[in-house]
Amino acid sequence: MSAMGTRAERAVLDGPEWETVVGLEVHSELMTQTKLFCCCRNAFGDQPNTNICPVCLGLPGSLPVLNSHAVELAMRIGTALHCEVRPSSFHRKNYFYPDMPKDYQISQYDEPINVGGWLQLPDGSRVGIVRAHLEEDTGKTTHQGETGRIHAADYALVDYNRAGVPLVEIVSEPDIRSAAQARLYVTELRAVLVATGASDGRMEEGSLRVDANVSVRRVGAGAYGTRCEIKNLNSLRSLGRAIEYEAARQVALVESGGAVAQETRHWDEHAGRTVPLRSKEEAFDYRYFPEPDLVPLAPDAEWQARAAGAIGLLPSARRERLAGLIGRAPTPQQVDQVHVLVGQGLDDLVVAAVGQGAPADLALVRATNELAADLDAALALDPATFGRLVEMEAQGSLTATQSKAVLAELLAAGGGDPAAIAAEKGFEALSESSLAAVVRDVVDANPEEWARFSAGEDKLAGFFTGQVMRATGGKADGKAIAAELGRLRR
Ligand code: ADP
Ligand code: MG
Ligand code: ZN
Repeated sequence: MSAMGTRAERAVLDGPEWETVVGLEVHSELMTQTKLFCCCRNAFGDQPNTNICPVCLGLPGSLPVLNSHAVELAMRIGTALHCEVRPSSFHRKNYFYPDMPKDYQISQYDEPINVGGWLQLPDGSRVGIVRAHLEEDTGKTTHQGETGRIHAADYALVDYNRAGVPLVEIVSEPDIRSAAQARLYVTELRAVLVATGASDGRMEEGSLRVDANVSVRRVGAGAYGTRCEIKNLNSLRSLGRAIEYEAARQVALVESGGAVAQETRHWDEHAGRTVPLRSKEEAFDYRYFPEPDLVPLAPDAEWQARAAGAIGLLPSARRERLAGLIGRAPTPQQVDQVHVLVGQGLDDLVVAAVGQGAPADLALVRATNELAADLDAALALDPATFGRLVEMEAQGSLTATQSKAVLAELLAAGGGDPAAIAAEKGFEALSESSLAAVVRDVVDANPEEWARFSAGEDKLAGFFTGQVMRATGGKADGKAIAAELGRLRR
């Protein structure tokens, strides 16, 4: 049966296929010393209710003063996301929440600081950014009781240390088409936020929190379907699972004749499903109005340029730089290596090693396989040391196996001299001439095998390599043996 026939048949069996549509709202806490509108410390994990003052507690008569470093970090984020950085203003967003002492949140509404950008993902897709605006975080409620959840909680504890911590909310266009792409987007965005110095990227500490808007439509349909918003996903795993569950729920609902109702939903990690929080009818009316205690914000060109200049090398540029070292089009495997190494922050080490003369291919392989195995130690390793080791292997004074052993030792010891460690382990280089002599001895001792190998029975190369390895106690290099065998066969 032809491929076309198979596909047509599948379409009949499965019916029209569905497409998932996702737009993400990512809240990123900013790495400032102090909060957005007061001088209280911005720190995770301090004793509850120790970093508080009349401003962030919303006491009557207190006045907010805008933190200029938070503005700078917001501009860095906007610039890195190719947004237009604009004059902006603050609004009060009114709603009641026990962990929000003012009963309103100061946020940006119709005049956000950053609008209209995009983020390019490593797979080549591009996700539009609607806006990236400044706002303050709320405090944190912990429900005490067996389940740790609001239902059946015995009581709740409120910590206002987080109230007033600066946030940038990054709102994407509904350009994302799968759970996997959503994870890729958050992974890349997180790396960008870390590179700008705006965020520590610690999702497990709540530095990055994601709301996912999910809808489904039949492939080829023009209009988007009705969306549901899943609140507060705080890991990539939850994000992916929640989107997959929600899309499947919506497809099943529509296929059985129902309709998706626009609502806010909660992801129940234990049950592995989303549950309704509130419907559109119950949605808050935030009664936005201009914050009367803050003047509009209009960073001048010089400040904007300073913010742009403070952005570190972005992950996309790091990937390009590393791939560029290879000197030709990278193989798919090397593309993966580049991606992983940049994600792990190991690219600087490889760049430095190559800068000192180590060959890029080999540096990539050793970094991907050996350095990644002990990431903390690897990040502390002196690039010159790594470079020397890779060079020793490249020049044939260490075999691959020996090189790995020396590298493991370097990582365990927190550094050292590769040549000294090699000597200590008895890994002296087997000179080309002594290797040639050993190979000749092995060939002479096995005339029958050599005749067959010479006649073209290539698989006997393995036999000869094994014999040479045995004779040299594993000190010979596989590639060098192959070269010597090739020379003798000619
Ligand atoms: P709101 O003001 O109600 O939050 P927005 O229009 O600002 O609504 O959209 C919020 C988020 O929802 C954005 O990230 C956007 O991309 C996403 N979104 C909008 N429509 C859809 C849809 N039909 N399906 C999935 N996501 C959507
Ligand atoms: Mg929203
Ligand atoms: Zn305060």
